[in-house]
Amino acid sequence: MTYIASNNRYSDMKYNYCGRSGLKLPVISLGLWHNFGGVDPFENSKSMLLSAFDLGITHFDLANNYGPPPGSAEETLGHILKSDLASYRDELIISTKAGYGMWEGPYGEWGSKKYLISSLDQSLKRMGLNYVDIFYSHRFDPDTPLEETMGALDQVVRQGKALYVGISNYGVEETKKAIRILKDLGTPLLIHQPNYSMFNRWIEDGLQDVLEEAGVGSIAFGPLAQGMLTNRYLGGIPTDSRAAKEESIFLNKGDVTEEKIYKVQQLNELASNRGQSLAQMSLAWVLRGHVTTALIGASKVSQIEENVKTINNLEFSNEELNKIENILNG
Ligand code: NDP
Repeated sequence: MTYIASNNRYSDMKYNYCGRSGLKLPVISLGLWHNFGGVDPFENSKSMLLSAFDLGITHFDLANNYGPPPGSAEETLGHILKSDLASYRDELIISTKAGYGMWEGPYGEWGSKKYLISSLDQSLKRMGLNYVDIFYSHRFDPDTPLEETMGALDQVVRQGKALYVGISNYGVEETKKAIRILKDLGTPLLIHQPNYSMFNRWIEDGLQDVLEEAGVGSIAFGPLAQGMLTNRYLGGIPTDSRAAKEESIFLNKGDVTEEKIYKVQQLNELASNRGQSLAQMSLAWVLRGHVTTALIGASKVSQIEENVKTINNLEFSNEELNKIENILNG
């Protein structure tokens, strides 16, 4: 059956300008790192993507290596774009990245122009697109001149293969330099994609100020600490969770410690006093400052539905913020 997007898709979602650009992003964006690979059930991936769009999530985030196998999340998106979302292309912001290991040999990772340009060409083919909306350097390469990496980002914009550019996982000093180089090239940095959640607050130590001053937006990945900052692990490790999966090297059983769960239990209680789920409070907390959008992952449509409802309560009293600090520092 042909998919027709919900007529109400723009009625509830909130959109923020990305830094001082003219581009608006939904406050909740969806990432395809997990659960959209060739090994995952296609129908579930498709339902999640289409439900997200029906709920006003216009931004889907990818990278060359998302899968498994690497590249297959882009292929999954490509299939869904072709079969269901082709007529909505201009309503979508699709990003991809290059930086981590993608193919054999000296040109298959890091930050050379050779790698970035070839990788984007491959990504476009896998997704069946003429251009992406945002192309990222996925990580800083200490052995390639930053001028070369940023020059490659500038070039793909001039070639019409990307509309905007971003950087991810860059530290404060590297970010400052990237902003300067890109400004001189005439392709301003649109966005930074750092890890940010109640359990990982490194961006508060300088990066946020740099981005704000330069008018660069930010998209916080892992805002739920891969599921730790939800009710997922309150009663142990469910068999269908990320931590239970054998192949998961990013969140494993050992990360779900008693100490963490104790904090999560207290946060959960606070969230319920706010009339929110813990996932919703965790997302609202990430969005309380200068973050443009919270980049979630999901394994089920119901998680996306729950997370989008975060927008019903984005405000915190000082007392609530202090309580959160006490729990996190406890
Ligand atoms: P999250 O912190 O949002 O974790 C997502 C996981 O949390 C889901 O897979 C699910 O776990 C669980 N979850 C989500 N919502 C709920 C809910 N309402 N209730 C219970 N559990 C829930 O983010 P990710 O780690 O998935 O990262 C998000 C995106 O960020 C990626 O897809 C990618 O686009 C980007 N990213 C970028 C990186 C970079 O280097 N730039 C690195 C990592 C991610 P479960 O599967 O167990 O159900």
